[in-house]
Amino acid sequence: MSLPAIRIASVTKRYGSVQALAGVDLDVDRGEFFGLLGPNGAGKTTLISSLSGLVRADSGTLEVMGHDVVSDYRNARRKLGVVPQELVFDPFFTVRELLRIQSGYFGIRHNDDWIDEILASLDLTAKAGANMRMLSGGMKRRVLVAQALVHRPPVIVLDEPTAGVDVELRQGLWQFIRKLNRDGHTIVLTTHYLEEAEALCGRIAMLKAGRVVALDTTDNLLRRFATHSLRVRLE
Ligand code: ATP
Repeated sequence: MSLPAIRIASVTKRYGSVQALAGVDLDVDRGEFFGLLGPNGAGKTTLISSLSGLVRADSGTLEVMGHDVVSDYRNARRKLGVVPQELVFDPFFTVRELLRIQSGYFGIRHNDDWIDEILASLDLTAKAGANMRMLSGGMKRRVLVAQALVHRPPVIVLDEPTAGVDVELRQGLWQFIRKLNRDGHTIVLTTHYLEEAEALCGRIAMLKAGRVVALDTTDNLLRRFATHSLRVRLE
């Protein structure tokens, strides 16, 4: 059997007195569309940041496509595209410049053909030369997705990509992420929107106070908890 796309075993992380992750175990199979749900402060972003190397877990193991994120960071990071929650950019770079810089970070030169493809698929071609400060919040969200794709990672983690996004753009992002999954990418999505997880994810892990409190197929989870009580658990 092939290695999972993501393996998380016994991961803990403490910030001072806050136990953000209290022993998380989670495998995401290749090709899955996986949802990570939980209330504010449950540890979702900390888990993603530990996976991408932004945060160093205190203990446990994290692997991306079989590469350990600590001892084999370079290869693990190459396999992972991360769409962060925060819209933080240098406002004076253009969209294309940002994507070139991101390509350079992965040692990729002459990436413009691929960048053009990504921009077209995210409906951003007309904005390639625009400074970031000129873009709307929705466009910036799409640039974050584009940035995550420049190095063609097989695994893509999106941290609340539709937070604060209007309904039309949300639908567009859903379609795009679905297509990535159909094309073979493994997707991990964190969200506060139950309907989003229900519409997209094959399996869901619910995180609470740094622990996985439920892990099952979306259908089973919805069956186990009536929608109402699942909603309550997410709040
Ligand atoms: P949200 O849905 O609000 O984004 P989350 O599930 O992503 O929340 P985290 O952001 O991972 O949760 O936070 C988990 C816990 O760790 C929270 O109690 C948070 O306050 C704390 N925390 C996160 N980052 C830091 C930090 N850099 N320093 C101190 N505490 C932190």
